[in-house]
Amino acid sequence: MEKILDIKDLHVSFKTYGGEVQAVRGVNLELHKGETLAIVGESGCGKSVTANSIMKLIPSPPGKITQGSIHFKDQNLTEMSSKEIRKIRGVDISMIFQDPMTALNPTLTVGDQLTEGLKQHKKISSQDANEQAIEMLNLVGIPNPKERMKQHPHQFSGGMRQRIVIAMALICEPELLIADEPTTALDVTIQAQILQLFNRIQEQTGVSIILITHDLGVVAKIADRIAVMYAGKVIEVGTRREIFYNPQHPYTRGLLNSVPRLDQRGDQLIPINGTPPDLFSPPKGCPFTARCPKAMEVCENVYPVHTKLSDTQEVDCWLQDERAKKYMAT
Ligand code: SF4
Ligand code: MG
Repeated sequence: MEKILDIKDLHVSFKTYGGEVQAVRGVNLELHKGETLAIVGESGCGKSVTANSIMKLIPSPPGKITQGSIHFKDQNLTEMSSKEIRKIRGVDISMIFQDPMTALNPTLTVGDQLTEGLKQHKKISSQDANEQAIEMLNLVGIPNPKERMKQHPHQFSGGMRQRIVIAMALICEPELLIADEPTTALDVTIQAQILQLFNRIQEQTGVSIILITHDLGVVAKIADRIAVMYAGKVIEVGTRREIFYNPQHPYTRGLLNSVPRLDQRGDQLIPINGTPPDLFSPPKGCPFTARCPKAMEVCENVYPVHTKLSDTQEVDCWLQDERAKKYMAT
């Protein structure tokens, strides 16, 4: 499968009065054409910072990409000027955020907002832009799109607004869509509809999707592959099947245990005790040591080995080391 995004050794930090926060500490990720990669983890793990780095949306200062590269096809995004990035943003790569209202202009009609980007980037006539906008509203499931084009955002429900935001993100036919917690603000039923919509859009357009979420229920519905982040690092990556049925990192297991399961009666949530480490001075060993039920002496002092378990699954944990396996067996 064609690789469309390649993130290598990405480091991002933020200067604050208290010191420098190392929010992302050497992230490697790939994305292929037509696939959905979910990035999961607790808040503050660096998942949004990673996503925002792709589109140079890190406020600088205080934020800075200090190391690494992000290639979108054959272009290195980290080396581009803001002007060059603006040509890509919304056209080749689009982003959707949690709160649809921040993406919509309350004073403009939905039609004007949808056609604005098209006219600006694709240089097409108003009539063609209108027709494409109506088609796009249709695709995202807005009834009576022709009439709805003339309305303002406040005349739509929360779920409908998020559909409009998705339509706006897709109207220039981007190859990559980055969605940061796109359903978090919506109620469960609407959430399910929006997730179905993502699946349908991907089938129809072949767009690649990066989905940032803390919600494993969402991930189970739409991700092809999953990257689990912890303390600024990807600690495990694999296909949906591998992560759900054969998770190898104790943190991934902990996350899965903390998800309520509908098929278990009287189920108990098992939250992971403790909190992630302070990223002002990240630990030199495994960042999960303090919370890990399997932690060994080596974990605290040396960052774990990176192990490839299959063509698709990789994990950073000392339990994969032969010596640890022997030690555990005795
Ligand atoms: Fe736990 Fe050690 Fe593996 Fe870290 S490296 S997850 S502390 S066993
Ligand atoms: Mg976030």
